Amino acid sequence: MRLTVINNIFCVGRNYALHAKELNNDIPGSPMFFSKPTHSAVETNGQAITLPGDSGSVHYEAEWVIHIGRTYTPGMQIGELANGMALGIDFTLRDVQSELKKKGYPWLAAKGFLNSAVLTPFIPFTGIEVCRQTDFSLLINGNEVQRGNISQMLFDPQALIDYCGTHYGLGKNDILFTGTPAGVGKVTNGDQFTLKWGSDVLGEFTAMLKSSK
Ligand code: ZN
Repeated sequence: MRLTVINNIFCVGRNYALHAKELNNDIPGSPMFFSKPTHSAVETNGQAITLPGDSGSVHYEAEWVIHIGRTYTPGMQIGELANGMALGIDFTLRDVQSELKKKGYPWLAAKGFLNSAVLTPFIPFTGIEVCRQTDFSLLINGNEVQRGNISQMLFDPQALIDYCGTHYGLGKNDILFTGTPAGVGKVTNGDQFTLKWGSDVLGEFTAMLKSSK
């Protein structure tokens, strides 16, 4: 399924315990949602993807992404709601984010910049049980840097869609980044990214750090 239209991009922070710990964050009592502008989305096709090169460190966060196929109503199961899945990178300006956190400012500048929501092409969603049997991983320059499994989430996919659907709404062509496992780190100019679902490569690209001036 090629990406045509995205209505909303929802993301969840701190949804894997080891990742919350590596950034010295508390584990939240309820899912911590934020959103990105749709302009931040870009689909991988082996291309070079430009990221900010003059705003401090850019971190990669590999994540499992759900595509929503219809309007959420309470009681709906994820299998009825989701019609696709992909892997994505929630690129984050980590130094900017630390400053925003200190000031209590919104995260837009750290999480919502152009190309900050990288997505592989979507594949059919075959059910949560099948997905629990498959690890996703991120390789940079051929070395595995992150590996996760959706069964390790603090708030599982059903809890995420229930929370999001109830508080913010979920509808056709919304997507949901479900949080990153441990192993996030800094991007270096020219890094080659490979996102894998089990042994299948879903997407590849090269990161280009570029000054905005
Ligand atoms: Zn994230």
